[in-house]
Formats: sequence, C-alpha cells, structure tokens
Amino acid sequence: MKRNKLSYIDDNIQALKDDGVYRELPVNYGPCDHVINLNGREVINLSSNNYLGFANHPRVMEASKAAIDKYGVGAGAVRTIVGNQDLLEELEKLLATFKEEEAVMAFQSGLNCNIGTIQAITQKGDLIISDELNHASIIDGVRLSKADKAVYKHSDMEHLEAILLEKRKQYNTVLIITDGVFSMDGDLALLPKIVELAERFDCLTYVDDAHGSGVLGRSGRGTVDHFNLHGSVDFIIGTLSKAIGVVGGYVATKRNVKEWLLHRARPLLFSTALPPAATAATIESVKMLMESETHTKKLWDNARYFKAELENLGFDIGKSETPITPVMIGEEAKTMAFSKTLLDEGVFVSGIVFPTVPKNTGRCRVMISASHTRDDLDKAILAFKKVGESLGVI
Ligand SMILES: *Cc1c(COP(=O)(O)O)cnc(C)c1O
Repeated sequence: MKRNKLSYIDDNIQALKDDGVYRELPVNYGPCDHVINLNGREVINLSSNNYLGFANHPRVMEASKAAIDKYGVGAGAVRTIVGNQDLLEELEKLLATFKEEEAVMAFQSGLNCNIGTIQAITQKGDLIISDELNHASIIDGVRLSKADKAVYKHSDMEHLEAILLEKRKQYNTVLIITDGVFSMDGDLALLPKIVELAERFDCLTYVDDAHGSGVLGRSGRGTVDHFNLHGSVDFIIGTLSKAIGVVGGYVATKRNVKEWLLHRARPLLFSTALPPAATAATIESVKMLMESETHTKKLWDNARYFKAELENLGFDIGKSETPITPVMIGEEAKTMAFSKTLLDEGVFVSGIVFPTVPKNTGRCRVMISASHTRDDLDKAILAFKKVGESLGVI
C-alpha cells in the first residue's frame, strides 16, 4: 500500500480539534459594513478594522473605478521593473505630507512592509530589541534579519533599559521596535519613554502604527503625532488596510532610507506592485482624512460611548486606550461560548484566546467603527448585558 505522506497534516489538524482551536471561516456575503450578511444572516459587525467606514465609502469606490478605466486592473510587474505607476508616486508624496516626514515607501501590505524593511535596515553586528507583544509581521521581519535579537516584557521600560545597559556597547546599530497601538489590548506604547531611552543609548526607533494610523493624532496622523514626537522616530510604519480601508502598507522615514529600500526590500523587488484600483482608493481615503476630522471624531465618539456603557454594566475592558475594546472573559471555552451566544443575539464579536493571547486571558475583542450607528451600539450593548448575565460574567 502507498504510504500517505501527508498523514502528519491530519495529525496536526486533529490536535487543533482536540485543543478546541480548530476554526471554520464565517462567510461575509457583502461589503465589510457596520451590519453584514454573515453566513446568510444579518448581524452587527463589531470585528472589523474598517475604523472609519472607508472600505466601502462611495467616494473611495468611485476613485477606484476611475483608476480601473484609466490603468486596468494590474500593475503588471514588480515596482523595480515597470510596476511603478504614477499613482504610487502620488500616494507616497501625499502620505509623506500627511505624516510630516521626508519620504514614504509604499508596500503591498503592512506585513510586507515589516518583513521587507526590518531585514533591509539591519545587518550582522546589529541588535534588534522588540516588545514581547509586537505584531507577528514584526516578529517575522526580525527573524529574517541577520542582526541579534532581544525581547523586553510588554511596555516594561525598566526591562528595556536593563537590556540596553547590558548590551548596547557590544553592537554597532541598535534598533528598538514597538507597535504604536497593541492590537489585542488597545493600549499605547510608552513612546515618549522609548524615544528618551533611544536618545540616551544612541538607538534607532521603529514604530508600527497599523492600528494608530487613521485613529490617533490630528486627523488620524498616528501615535507619533498623538505624542507630538515628530522627528524623533526613525521608521513609522502604517497600514492602508485598516482605517484607510483598502490594502497596502508604508514606511515614513528619511529620503536615503527610501532609496536603500528600493534596492534591498525584497517585497519591492520580488512581488508585483499594488494594483491601481487599490492605490487610487488609498489616495482618496488619505485625502478624506486630511480634509476633515469628522471621521476620526465620530470614531472616538462611538468608542467612548460604547466603552463607558460596557463599564457601567460591570464588564472589564482591560487597559484599552483606543477604539479597540477587549471585553475580558478569561477561560478559553467560556470566551468562545460568549462569542457564539452573542452571534445568536445578532452581534458578531470574535473571541480571542490562547495562543493569540496568554492562557486564561480570553476576550471578546470589540472593534468600534465610525460607521456604527447609535442604534447598532445600543443593540450590541443590550446583547452584551443579556449574554454577560446569562454566562455569569457580570
Ligand atoms: C494588521 C497589522 C499589520 C499588517 O497589516 P496588513 O496591511 O493587514 O498586512 C502589521 N502590523 C500591525 C501592528 C498590525 O496590526
């Protein structure tokens, strides 16, 4: 009999099922709106990163359609051959103005940006120091680098300082990397302190602001703007996939870094450039952000309202400082049961459990958007109350 060479995959899948972490993907039959058709049923969507409702905003969709008429649907090549359409140049200039930085290099996604940039800007003989809760794409970027690595406990500035005291002298360049907003808890990096340590120990700083761009700072300029640290962070990463509502990532930095990335960042050299419909859509979104603060204001109004109501009901929402609202449940099975019962009530909130977060810190993570109506939020609050009482969480 022929040996089943893939039976180890079956074993691995069985182990997922035994651990209760096997998942089937829900299917969304329409746009990622405040109310969605999930698996054929209308539910309130409290789980998207579409913070400002730009993912299906009419203005953004029009810009995207116009780009298809002019440019077609594909860039046709990597950026460094003939994929460099003028739309990309326009997007980068606009983002550099928005972020108040010298230059911006765009990538096909935030993940691509991290894995391409970290590897390109570090080399053997350098040290990368990273927060333990940094995003997986940072971890992957760090893994691809030939630099040595060290990890500090989440936002523990004494630990970061201890690592610098012990190791700084042994290395050429030292790069400190942190998320701007941590995606599982919604807390902010202690950027002023990180910048102070970086200056004292002569280190570079790298902030991945995927959840901060379009959310924090003036008109959503991000965490660096929120803390008024312009000029003090060497690499500011943003995504075009979350608040901007489309797809893509970028690094805002110095002109010479951009030049270097064009020669060494592998996603730019070996993967096709962003499609024109996406690039044009991101340009329109960024323009909308720059024109008015109404979008970010609505997002924060919604977030403040929802968070205050949940706290009044007695829920623990952790250390969130942003529209990311983790409703702490604790035990894994109970967290998943909470999420499932909410869905029965017509509210979709994903349950997040180990290994994405530490054991017994399971949570239903609510993502508030400017597109939510007061009625959506009130219905969701009622559902949380009902399920919280029935499962003994409040
Ligand atoms: C979502 C996220 C990314 C990935 O961005 P994509 O554009 O979706 O690839 C990178 N870093 C952080 C911190 C994120 O939260």
